[in-house]
Amino acid sequence: MKFVQSIEQPFPVLSPELLDLAHWMEQYYAAGLPEILELMIPAAVRKGMRVQERTFIALSRRATPEEMAELRRRAPQQAKLYRFIADQSSRDGFVKAELCKRLKVSTAAVSGLVKKELLREFQGRLEREAYNDGIAGGEHVQAVAHALNAEQQAAADSLIKSLSDGCYRTHLLQGVTGSGKTEVYLQVLRAALQNEGGAIFLVPEVALTPQTVARLRARLEQESGVKVVVWHSHLSDGERYDAWYALATGAARVVVGARSAIFAPVRNLRLIVVDEEHEPAFKQEESPRYHGRDVAVYRSFLQRCLCVLGSATPSLESVHNASIGKYRLNVMRQRVVDRQLPIMHVVDMKREVRGKGQKSGVFSRFLLDRLQERLERKEQSILFINRRGYDASLNCQQCGHVEMCEHCAVSMTHHKAEGLLRCHMCGAERAVPRHCPQCQSPDIHYKGSGTQKVEDIATKLLPKARIVRIDADTMQKRHLFRTVLDEFRKGKIDILVGTQMIAKGLDFPNVTLVGLIDADISLHLPDFRASERTFQLLVQVAGRAGRGDQPGEVVVQTFLPYAPPVQFARRQDFDDFALEELELRKQFGYPPYRHIIHHIIRGTNEDKVVWYSEQWVKFIEPRLQASFPGIEIRGPAPCPIPKIKNLYRFQVWYFTDNVSRLVAELQQLRSQFQWDPNLANVLDVDAVNLI
Ligand code: ADP
Ligand code: ZN
Ligand code: ZN
Repeated sequence: MKFVQSIEQPFPVLSPELLDLAHWMEQYYAAGLPEILELMIPAAVRKGMRVQERTFIALSRRATPEEMAELRRRAPQQAKLYRFIADQSSRDGFVKAELCKRLKVSTAAVSGLVKKELLREFQGRLEREAYNDGIAGGEHVQAVAHALNAEQQAAADSLIKSLSDGCYRTHLLQGVTGSGKTEVYLQVLRAALQNEGGAIFLVPEVALTPQTVARLRARLEQESGVKVVVWHSHLSDGERYDAWYALATGAARVVVGARSAIFAPVRNLRLIVVDEEHEPAFKQEESPRYHGRDVAVYRSFLQRCLCVLGSATPSLESVHNASIGKYRLNVMRQRVVDRQLPIMHVVDMKREVRGKGQKSGVFSRFLLDRLQERLERKEQSILFINRRGYDASLNCQQCGHVEMCEHCAVSMTHHKAEGLLRCHMCGAERAVPRHCPQCQSPDIHYKGSGTQKVEDIATKLLPKARIVRIDADTMQKRHLFRTVLDEFRKGKIDILVGTQMIAKGLDFPNVTLVGLIDADISLHLPDFRASERTFQLLVQVAGRAGRGDQPGEVVVQTFLPYAPPVQFARRQDFDDFALEELELRKQFGYPPYRHIIHHIIRGTNEDKVVWYSEQWVKFIEPRLQASFPGIEIRGPAPCPIPKIKNLYRFQVWYFTDNVSRLVAELQQLRSQFQWDPNLANVLDVDAVNLI
């Protein structure tokens, strides 16, 4: 027994609810408790970081004109400092050291002014705030609330009703793109914040949804006077500590952030919103492999609060949960102020390539004409292609050789802008060969297009257009994305070319045309969710068009114009798409009808990976079949990408109705099985990425 000497924090770092949540995640996701707690308690808190105190200076009283004249004559530095501070309306004051450095004045100037009682000095807490750099990021922040239309009002009423019941409930808010979901969230948030309530708002990625973040922030801080904390993976230790501390002490009551914000220590939690709930970005692809949306639902359950999942294209898991009554469904079918959903044209590229289309094969005549038209009308366009680089692969026309990464089982992508080949799995780079390395033939064919090629060809075909490309290669610096969006909003850019990075939640009223260059990339994924992903992509990118007064048009280029997701998306027919796709999932016993646990076994020695995978399945099959009637085990089989970063990868799939019990059993069996120490094997519960 020891005496308590001092109290480190005036409150516990984990609430009982978060601890319960951690235990549930440990069991459900087969994860280690320490790594879960690391998500909940930021490193800075664990390391015992403290609130940073600084010396601040602020105006104490106004100088008289005589005093001012005197200052200017006798002490120009003091005059400069005084004038700067007096001109700013900030009541909070400035950090003394920083301001002196910025204005290039000595601290003696401060002392001089303090002595004259024009300034005062005080100790204060330093707020390290992310994104406080004054770049607008293309957001035109809506300062005043809109009067809700009938559909929005009905949804908001229903949500606020559940909120005021004060018990656990999940709603699925399914509203077409541009139906004004954010406005509905804001109404519910406002209700939740009354009487010291708190809220969590999750977005797929903070950096890619700057408009949503800015809107929420501006409106909540204005209307409810509540401080909003923005939470994302690029926060420095200090910023994260401050954000965490503000929430834990109740100084801030709302957090807007990516998936890990679900663990924020918000007090009096009344509401969790998951915007774009269908986004795969909510799933963490490293241990603990949790799904932010599902954790949100469970945390709401533990805290007896309201959870709102919103999307124009909800995941089939959520649609299913709504249809069996686990979630309540609210639908908004109309865009606000009678704006029409864009018209979607599907262009059959088979006919374009055979016919009089472009030699490049990138643009159909149809799309090109429409781009031209937009330039003439001074409207803006967005072009999507979900691949970086210039050409997707290099193939030898003589021997069929394909340039592959030496570490991964994927082809190298040609990056013309950087003049090299690059692997999109591991980032390895190599020079572009002039001859086939197998047969020395110079006859190398470049296949498939990426963002660089689209940008390049568009520049050649539309020389007058101002075109900017946005992808992970050009957006190395994080402020660049918001800078480009800002220029786009100001009309300094005609055509934005980009990957899915620009598909999320952007709202630019002057965009009247969206082109999807190659809809087939996502259709061909070796994943049972390929149709769902394609449908979502089409509807979401289409949703960027026609958000202002002019109606929008969408052009989808594909070699498979009659593929069901393309046709359902063309008609914006979510309900029938879901119905048909769910029927297929049911027949095959895929999620949402059963849970999937994806078991990956990997190692540097291919033979060992294969052998141990086979032995493992032989070991578990009789044991599991006995205690889990109806369980289905598939594999072992190579993963769709059988080698990544020099690790060979095999997989086993388990389909089950009862995740918790099966995970417990698998954990037990895994500890009994004699694994080779050089192999790693991981369980991915409710796996999203099956590649
Ligand atoms: P969603 O998230 O459903 O795609 P948003 O919430 O971004 O839609 O709303 C689309 C646009 O319509 C925004 O610019 C928003 O300010 C505006 N808006 C929302 N509700 C209304 C309304 N009731 N009347 C007029 N404009 C609205
Ligand atoms: Zn060859
Ligand atoms: Zn590689």
